[in-house]
Amino acid sequence: MCGIVGYIGPRDAAEFLVTGLHRLEYRGYDSAGVATITPDGQFALVKTTGRISQLENRLADTPAPGSVGIGHTRWATHGNPSDENAHPHFGGDGELAVVHNGVIENYRPIKQRLENEGYVFQSATDSEVIAHLIDSCLKHQPPIEDMAADYGPLVDAVQSALTQLRGTYGLVVLFRRWPEVLIAARLGSPLIVGVGDNEHFIASDASPLAGFTDKIVYLADHELAVVTASELRVIHRDQGRVNHNVHVLDFQVADVAKGGFDHFMLKEIFEQPEAVENVLRGRLDHDAATSKFGGFNLTPQQLRALNRIIMTACGTSWHAGLVGEYQIEALARLPVEVEYASELRYSNPPIDNGTLVIAITQSGETADTLAALREMQRKGCPVLGICNVVGSTIPQETDGGFYLRAGPEIGVASTKAFTSQCTLLAMLALYFGRLRHLSFSAGKQIIAELQELPDKVRRALQYNDQVRSIAEKYAGCDNFLYLGRQFNFPTALEGALKLKEISYIHAEGYPAAEMKHGPIALVDEKTPSVFIMPRGQVYDKVMSNLQEIKARGGPVIAVVCEGDTEAAELADDIIEIPAVEEYLQPIITVIPLQLLAYHIAVARGCDVDKPRNLAKSVTVE
Ligand code: GLU
Repeated sequence: MCGIVGYIGPRDAAEFLVTGLHRLEYRGYDSAGVATITPDGQFALVKTTGRISQLENRLADTPAPGSVGIGHTRWATHGNPSDENAHPHFGGDGELAVVHNGVIENYRPIKQRLENEGYVFQSATDSEVIAHLIDSCLKHQPPIEDMAADYGPLVDAVQSALTQLRGTYGLVVLFRRWPEVLIAARLGSPLIVGVGDNEHFIASDASPLAGFTDKIVYLADHELAVVTASELRVIHRDQGRVNHNVHVLDFQVADVAKGGFDHFMLKEIFEQPEAVENVLRGRLDHDAATSKFGGFNLTPQQLRALNRIIMTACGTSWHAGLVGEYQIEALARLPVEVEYASELRYSNPPIDNGTLVIAITQSGETADTLAALREMQRKGCPVLGICNVVGSTIPQETDGGFYLRAGPEIGVASTKAFTSQCTLLAMLALYFGRLRHLSFSAGKQIIAELQELPDKVRRALQYNDQVRSIAEKYAGCDNFLYLGRQFNFPTALEGALKLKEISYIHAEGYPAAEMKHGPIALVDEKTPSVFIMPRGQVYDKVMSNLQEIKARGGPVIAVVCEGDTEAAELADDIIEIPAVEEYLQPIITVIPLQLLAYHIAVARGCDVDKPRNLAKSVTVE
């Protein structure tokens, strides 16, 4: 998520930092900041919510001179987007400054301990603990009279702080007393160092470096870089100093928007392994064979007493709700209804004391969802939110809830938010199941399956080229049917919606067997049917539906498990996916459908990231 830049060398640092932050804007962010060390040895710190252009305006009034500095674009995970929460954060009394990408899961106990030591926190972020923790580790070392040439005491302090952190980080530290060095480190959040002529650049991806240097060193997890203008040393947590390879990147300034992808949507489709990893992170409880969530604000007793869940959402989030319905009913045997928020807000459903409402949203600002949850709260229902954007309205108004941590979703057609929502709902199904009848060993099994998901998503993405050629073959068609059953009925709806949204092709999603009751009249040789048919309890049934379409001359594209020769013989085209348990299938089967919609839209020359008539967050009724 988000962006980091750093500079040390002869240039004006702020100039590079601002250019770099502009290049990272494609990742999406809510606030930004830079810190430099001025020629008279003081920190200059400028931060603001909003755009990089606002940061530039502030810098015009309050310059940040100096030839060493760090910068950040923040996408809030802990604490609202605000000037105080923007990075860099100071440690101690302004002894050092830190920028951080990622999430520190155990920030609460560390913060508590540091507050007891006398540290005063300025922000609500998890990141600020890193700054104070490093300062505290430095203070626990003997006083530094002469800094050794290898900056050993600084490295020791940073390393000892890092060993105490649980979570993910890409970070850079700037020390007021030692402006001739930057320390960078990574665990689970990318960081690179650009090697220049007596200067070094640091960034969270290569885009800021284009035009500055093409020599790049990738830091690996658990590596720390000690960076001066003239030297780069890489130190591994366990192996000590390691040799670093310098890669030469062939890229131009023009290539760097959107991180090398042609569209945000494609970039976000490919971010899904990481997004699924992020939603799982810290939420699996191996000892109790269940999932754990900080945000319920309801006791296990209250949750155990529920007799019904109403999920409410719009668009793609509503499809995720349908997936959640299948998952929770299968794993927890708890009845779930999924209501369009625009309907729920004006309907008057009977509710009782055992009803819980879950509002699902990417942006947290969807007007209909907000209105529906307010109505349900007015009726006395506890309402939980599932949301991607931290600090948005819906998480503020719900009684509890969970963030997806999928990173900014900029493409109007939602992709990684959907797979993250479905993953989170699977974890909720596990949680509710373990409160009820699911055994310890069943819980263990589900945890193991959830942990395999990111790799399965990665594998599904490897069929991108295959999907592209199928897309090119069918791009001229004007009607599509998407058919699936059970867990993959919502996937059929979502696949059809993706195609409609970005390619303007008429598409309908149906339960595969239901098409006999009407839509089959649409079938002809120019109307392809996309069958979502991974192996599972209804595989044979869906196969019969496929035969029915073939018998009427309709072309068939089948999404099938790897190695499914039976379907391959019957379908005109197949797209393979790795096999997963049925309750997780939508998270994998939707991936080729996202890619299919994307490549068809590109083949038809549509503006994928800004489809006509659509808005990313629908804040009107
Ligand atoms: N967790 C940090 C925060 O909320 C960093 C988020 C990011 O990656 O920008 O400030």
